[in-house]
Amino acid sequence: MMAFTDGKALIDKLADSRELSREEWAGLISGRSPELSEYLFERARDVRIRFYGHDIYIRGLIEFTNYCRNDCYYCGIRKSNANAVRYRLTKDDILSCCENGYRLGFRTFVLQGGEDGWFTDERMCDIISEIRSCWHDCAITLSVGERPYESYRLFYQAGADRYLLRHETFDAEHYGMLHPPSLSAAHRQECLWNLKEIGYQTGTGFMVGSPRQTAQNLADDMLFLKKLNPHMVGIGPFIPHHDTPFADQPSGTLELTLFMLGLIRLMLPKVLLPATTALGTIADGGRERGILAGANVIMPNLSPETVRGNYLLYDNKLCTGDEAAEGCRGLSERMNAIGYRIVVSRGDSLNHDKTEKRTGGRKNV
Ligand code: SAH
Repeated sequence: MMAFTDGKALIDKLADSRELSREEWAGLISGRSPELSEYLFERARDVRIRFYGHDIYIRGLIEFTNYCRNDCYYCGIRKSNANAVRYRLTKDDILSCCENGYRLGFRTFVLQGGEDGWFTDERMCDIISEIRSCWHDCAITLSVGERPYESYRLFYQAGADRYLLRHETFDAEHYGMLHPPSLSAAHRQECLWNLKEIGYQTGTGFMVGSPRQTAQNLADDMLFLKKLNPHMVGIGPFIPHHDTPFADQPSGTLELTLFMLGLIRLMLPKVLLPATTALGTIADGGRERGILAGANVIMPNLSPETVRGNYLLYDNKLCTGDEAAEGCRGLSERMNAIGYRIVVSRGDSLNHDKTEKRTGGRKNV
């Protein structure tokens, strides 16, 4: 464990917008203590409140397909998992999810899915432009993995505003331990730079406690976040899925995930930071703890109830109760109980850098 004063000095340095070296990051992460965490969370909350007040933005998550051509070792919907019950929502299904979501107060829809070849550029653009024309005041976020530059550009032109693509882990060697050889850290990162260049509000992130992850790996993840300067960062604990090669690996911990959330809030004060479903899955009240560590976004599930149980990225994934969009009132009450409030808003990132190059070519942004 690191001496409290040394850790505190690094956290103060971060709060001062100064950069930490790789060694400092790794030392801070591996040397953390409960006392240091409390200090960090307090600072992180101050920063969050300065920019976003006590508001919590909600995103309606529509998991529209669990077909996937990839075989990531950690993921329950990997193509080799013959036990996964596969489904695809139709365009009408997706539109009714949006309609339902709008009524519940959602002003951002997140379309997430496996890398499913059925959803060609043409089909995606058709769905995106239909949502865009029906709900002008909503943000459309995509999370459909790695695609060519041109596809990203077409989606943007069709009306998508934001894109989530976690880098998963920055280090190429560690990336190789989590993915088959057909996937690479370099290509994933290239996609992120492309998304930013096109003009998307871009989100990246990583799993905490994924198999063989070291403090150095997390240090590299922090340095990458600093460099990319994304608008959103999604992190959550790794949780094993019984039908994957990592079935017997331990989960990431609540404690380390919260610590990383606090560090991200301090390093990127204006970033949109969700308290993720995975965080809520590993511990009761996990999401509230995430909010208190600096997070400001929650993403309840808007998928039709009939398919929810099939988008199983990991075991015991929450999909009912407060997690479900219908449980919004319960969620709202739980957030009020810790002094925060859910707001009806698109909740755009304040981290949008006006000087960034845009090549997306969409006029009305
Ligand atoms: N196909 C899309 C969406 C992937 S699922 C894409 O490639 O971006 C969304 C996220 O869930 C992944 O980026 C990964 O970080 C997370 N995830 C997948 N399996 C997980 C597991 N077993 N435990 C925790 N998180 C997991």
